[in-house]
Amino acid sequence: MNFDFYLFDLDGTLLHLGNIRAYAEKILVETLDRLKAKYPPMRNERFKLWTSEDGYLNVLEEWGVEKPQNFWKFFDEIDFNKRKILIKKKKAFLYQDVKYVLEKLYHHKDSKKLAIVTNTAYYICEYILNKFNISKFFHETFSLGYYLNDQKLAKPSPNGILTILDKFEYDPKESKAILIGDSKLDIIAAKKASIYACLIRRDIDTRNRHYKNWDIQPDFVIEGLEELLYL
Ligand SMILES: [Mg+2]
Repeated sequence: MNFDFYLFDLDGTLLHLGNIRAYAEKILVETLDRLKAKYPPMRNERFKLWTSEDGYLNVLEEWGVEKPQNFWKFFDEIDFNKRKILIKKKKAFLYQDVKYVLEKLYHHKDSKKLAIVTNTAYYICEYILNKFNISKFFHETFSLGYYLNDQKLAKPSPNGILTILDKFEYDPKESKAILIGDSKLDIIAAKKASIYACLIRRDIDTRNRHYKNWDIQPDFVIEGLEELLYL
């Protein structure tokens, strides 16, 4: 446990949501439908939105969305409803190693600091943390807001990470910080913020099987959260 600051992604890292890409795509399709997109993207074009950072409004316009500013409001509403149903059906749940690891870190004698950095909307994040009774472990949370401009703060932007580190008064000369996430966007964001990046590859996750070909490489790769305690 050589780090002072542990920043966690939420979906796919702490929270099991099944196949996350399929989950997000389903919501995207429903959202575009609600927004009456004239030229909804084909399957292989949908990824553009997740990597567009602050260019997402242009992408939505390309797809014939008349009021792209409403996109995240609708997307989050659909996401929230789906999650509540999945939780009820026990199809969305915390991975079994999560509470154990958070407790170990939280009660560590060197007073480690823990945070969440997620691209999920703040009210959904808050709901999840409370629902599973883990909000007490996090000193800070960075999630996305309700307003237009917030999307540019989403990972792969390092903005969320830097905001948290600032609150922790992080000084790279004195302490070490690590972000643990299950996607390429997490790794890019962490490296842009000049901190350690840890990719978690959960057993059902086949998404990242080609991670060795990524331009930006994680510093660590783990398959379960417990391994984090030995880094
Ligand atoms: Mg994730």
